Amino acid sequence: MSPSYSTEFIDQAHKATIFHEQEILASHHCTCFYCGYQFDPQTEPDLQWWDETNPKGRTLV
Ligand SMILES: [Zn+2]
Repeated sequence: MSPSYSTEFIDQAHKATIFHEQEILASHHCTCFYCGYQFDPQTEPDLQWWDETNPKGRTLV
């Protein structure tokens, strides 16, 4: 069975899961890859972040 996604795509997707504050705040549609919860970060009232002090940007919990 061949994989559905290229290794390059998986690498890019994984990089987008951390230090992604700018991408999250510019987006209207996010999905949690842990539980599948879908939300709009523009209207979600209680976003929680990791990596608060990382200069690359915060990571959304
Ligand atoms: Zn979740």
